[in-house]
Amino acid sequence: MKKYGIAPNKGLGQNFLVDGNIAQAIVKGCRLQEDDNVLEIGPGLGALTAGMAVAAGRVVAVEIDKGFIPVLQDNLQGFDNVEIINMDIMKMDLKDVVRTRFGGRPFKVVGNLPYYLTTPIIMKLLEQQLPITTMVFMIQKEVGQRLSARPSTKEYGALTLAVGYYTDCEVLFKVPNTVFIPRPKVDSIVIRLTPKAQKNLKPKDERLMFRIIRAAFEQRRKTLVNALAHGGILGGDKERIRQVLKGLDIGPESRGEQLTLEQYCKIADNIYGLQKLP
Ligand code: SAM
Repeated sequence: MKKYGIAPNKGLGQNFLVDGNIAQAIVKGCRLQEDDNVLEIGPGLGALTAGMAVAAGRVVAVEIDKGFIPVLQDNLQGFDNVEIINMDIMKMDLKDVVRTRFGGRPFKVVGNLPYYLTTPIIMKLLEQQLPITTMVFMIQKEVGQRLSARPSTKEYGALTLAVGYYTDCEVLFKVPNTVFIPRPKVDSIVIRLTPKAQKNLKPKDERLMFRIIRAAFEQRRKTLVNALAHGGILGGDKERIRQVLKGLDIGPESRGEQLTLEQYCKIADNIYGLQKLP
């Protein structure tokens, strides 16, 4: 970093992995085949990128920080199957990437994710119905606890429900905070998310179900009725929302964090048809 005159930017979640064994274990966790397409999120200085390039067919690495692009270009110049794109992953049209970079074929996603964006990145990947076969992410341990959280805990939220609905989640291994520069306050874990071939639940309208879930957790301290009304569900009509919940034996004082995915599915199926989505 000194050589290139750059310094870690805390605001962009820049904690760089400096342990080659862990980098290799992450690559291994992706179970790469030689014709695999890989999207890497936040390559940073390239700790994972070269390993991916060796094992996969094509790697597209998306890095927001312009200062790292020359470093990546220098470190990866021996590889003709890596493309580095200087962009914010949240602004990227991923369907377009699949079409133009991967020829519409399935792909894998990997990343030591920036802490501040872990949930939005995972939600974006899950909700866009992309042909993803595997996702391997390094995330902070606290976020990991949200993935398997039980209802009525503070870790339980929209991420828990989305990951549980769309994927099978495995924790591959733990990573101590000592293997990063700069050192984050907490340890990390590496997880593998495999999209479910067959979902356990079949809501009539998946988008509506997640709109309801988001509304419930955006106002998680409010009652479910108030949170859903605030989120514009059923046009914000509290009485109609109360009626739907009552029909499902969900009391007026219930909060979103107390409900299971099955209950959200039932709420969505009951609201489906009562409301036209914009
Ligand atoms: N992969 C590297 C490693 O393991 O050492 C860096 C990991 S670091 C935790 C997260 C990386 O994501 C940083 O390089 C940061 O600049 C990048 N990043 C942060 N926000 C991003 C965004 N919105 N889009 C793309 N990359 C982003």
